[in-house]
Parts: sequence; structure tokens; C-alpha cells
Amino acid sequence: MLIAGNWKMYKGPGETREFCSAFTPPASIEAVICPPFGSLGAGVASGHTIFAQNVHWAEEGAFTGEVSAPILVELGVQGAIVGHSERRQYFGETDETIARRVFAAVEHGLRAIACVGESAEERESGQMDLVLRLQVEALADAVGPHERLVIAYEPIWAIGTGKTATPAIAQEAHAFIKSLLDVPVLYGGSVKPDNAAELLAQPDVDGALVGGASLDVESFAAICLAAASLR
Ligand code: PEP
Repeated sequence: MLIAGNWKMYKGPGETREFCSAFTPPASIEAVICPPFGSLGAGVASGHTIFAQNVHWAEEGAFTGEVSAPILVELGVQGAIVGHSERRQYFGETDETIARRVFAAVEHGLRAIACVGESAEERESGQMDLVLRLQVEALADAVGPHERLVIAYEPIWAIGTGKTATPAIAQEAHAFIKSLLDVPVLYGGSVKPDNAAELLAQPDVDGALVGGASLDVESFAAICLAAASLR
């Protein structure tokens, strides 16, 4: 069971150190923290497992504002989130660029949490299966069922909105994703201490990608404890 905290553009190195020294995850789950780039060093120094929030496909080059897999490896970072819906929405990421980023990450020994998920309009217009299929098949074509790849199912309508998918909705989407690419699938979208257990209890929910509730050490620890109580 993997519980990852996506801090987005919150917490500089000082706050990262504070959080990490107060955070003791239960031994039976894997807790991952994903701070913004400038705080990765502080995170790594804490001894917790640290992932970045993005990684470029090239080893080096004229790509202002990007970070490469070799740089992350040298920093002691163990993986990266790739293709978060905020990257797709605000920074023009496509299924193709995401697949290239994931390929580079795993090729360099990093782990990747590749995010997929449909918007409210796509769900309502019956396009959910098609959207998920295209997103997942791009990953399957690029890397296949790689041991360092996990997928995060993050329905866009549930991210940062307080609208969590029901356990049944999450389970159905996870089973569909696994039928296309057999890797662990995390659920993301308004996971909180009070709904984590019922989501994580679903047979095809292999962990969680937590945004807002990962910023507070007590709530992130409570979600980790809920996960530990299940497995
Ligand atoms: C996320 O950013 O990946 C996320 C799931 O956010 P939240 O938990 O705040 O909905």
C-alpha cells in the first residue's frame, strides 16, 4: 500500500524540514512525500522517501524550467509524479509528453506515479472509458507493466473540490485501468482521514495520492494509519 502526498507549490525547505521531522509513518505502508522542486533536498535529507512532481524526458538540454531524471537521481529523489491534471490543464501536457516523461523516469531507475482521470464533462457525456483508455494505452505503449510504474486514478472533478469518488466509482475505474495495464493503481481526489479507509478497502485500490490533506502532518499521518489498519 502506497500513500503519496502531493504538496503542489506549497512548503519551502524550512516547512519541509518541520513536517518531515514530525512525520512518522507506520512501518507496514509506504509513505512518499512529493515536495516542490526547491524543497526536494530538504526532503531527501530527512530520510523519508521523496518523489518530485515532474521530470523531463531528456537527459539534459535547453529546456528552461525543467528537471531531468539524472538530476533527480543525483539529489537522492526516488521517483516522480507525472501527468498530474494540473500539468495537463495549465502546462499543456499531453498523453504523449507524459508517456515520454514516464519512460525517461523508469529508464533512469526512478519510480513514476502517472496520473490519469476524466473531467466531469467527459464522465457525463459517456466518454470516460475512452479518455481513460487513451491515457492508459499511451503509458502501456511507452513502458508496459513496468515494476517502477504505478498509475494514479484522479478524476478531475474530485481534485481539490471536496467531492470524493464513491468507493464503488473508484473500484470500477481502477478495475478498468488494470484491465488495460496491470500495475498498482492509487486513488486521488479529496482523500481525507475520514474517507481514506473506505476507499482503500476496495480490492483494486492499491493506495492513495493525497493533495490538500497531505499538507498537514496530522491528517497525512491519519491517512497513512488508516491504510496500515487495512493491510
Ligand atoms: C492531487 O493533487 O493529486 C489531489 C488528489 O488533490 P486533493 O487531495 O486535494 O483533491
